[in-house]
Amino acid sequence: MNIIDLRSDTVTKPTPEMREAMAEAEVGDDVYGDDPTVNRLEALAAEKVGKEASVFVPSGTMGNLIALLVHCQRGDEAIVGNKSHIYLNEAGGMSALGGIQPNPVTNQKDGALALADLRAAIRTEDVHHPITRLICLENTQNACGGVPLSVEYTRQVGQLARENRLSFHLDGARIFNAAGAQNVDVKELVAPADSVMFCLSKGLASPVGSMLAGTKKFIARARHFRKMLGGGMRQAGILAAAGIVSLEKMTLRVAEDHRRAQALAVGLRHIAGIVLDENTPQTNMVYFNLAGQIPFDEKAVVEKMAKYNIQVDWADARRFRLVTHYEIDDAAVERTIMAFEEVLG
Ligand SMILES: *Cc1c(COP(=O)(O)O)cnc(C)c1O
Repeated sequence: MNIIDLRSDTVTKPTPEMREAMAEAEVGDDVYGDDPTVNRLEALAAEKVGKEASVFVPSGTMGNLIALLVHCQRGDEAIVGNKSHIYLNEAGGMSALGGIQPNPVTNQKDGALALADLRAAIRTEDVHHPITRLICLENTQNACGGVPLSVEYTRQVGQLARENRLSFHLDGARIFNAAGAQNVDVKELVAPADSVMFCLSKGLASPVGSMLAGTKKFIARARHFRKMLGGGMRQAGILAAAGIVSLEKMTLRVAEDHRRAQALAVGLRHIAGIVLDENTPQTNMVYFNLAGQIPFDEKAVVEKMAKYNIQVDWADARRFRLVTHYEIDDAAVERTIMAFEEVLG
């Protein structure tokens, strides 16, 4: 029986089409700007998100860190969600490597940072205060349930940032899921932000890599920091070739993952030991808690599911996140529901 892996969309292996494109990729030394495939990917990514330029980076974490380093000086403050990936899951890079102080604002249930909270978080001019320089949003907001933020809300935050002369960075690791779920062009979701990072290596199935996009000037600075952080890669066209397939093909099929996440939730809703989050899923993530009567903990559930060749991961005590992706087909959804029925029914 094949293994069903619902731990994350990062587990996706490159598609056969990617493997072929990688094998045949024209390459050169990208640090010299000589890799035609990387250049093609960077032009395509910028075009897709409607920004002037973009740069290929090894990971989303490095892409976000570079954006923070370009936008902020040491001692500056960046406003981030208290459930954001930047704040929780990037090893404190902004403070350790950038000397940037995070100012965490509560993520609302819908993933947003309340406009009033953002206004209150902006420091006034005072010799005692750090200088607020940047607002960061995350779309989709992973820890709030993989929830998408709207174009309207993103515009409001953009407006607020401009009024206060702040920069605005979007952690769009799954921005194509956010766009797909709301039936909007990704350009619209990204337009209010000065910079955006998105991952090729998650639902878009590339083996490695993320893109950081912004103005030409911003990306020129970003290239310095990428080199400084050790992210200047050489014949990276091998990887970029997969990224091009991600952008041209895999972005078109996110709705399938969302539909299967819906089907999974419909099946799990009837299982006595499972308490689904309200309004889950909105994209490719299903979040639920173990019901009070389940006598064992999340780690035991992981072990029990493994016996069915199903890999799941807990998100917190007695809490789970299941993520659909292109390797999860309808049969995998059915098998997962049946296994959970036996383990938690
Ligand atoms: C995965 C993720 C990142 C970081 O990407 P890596 O490639 O894993 O470093 C950043 N933000 C969000 C919301 C993510 O889910």
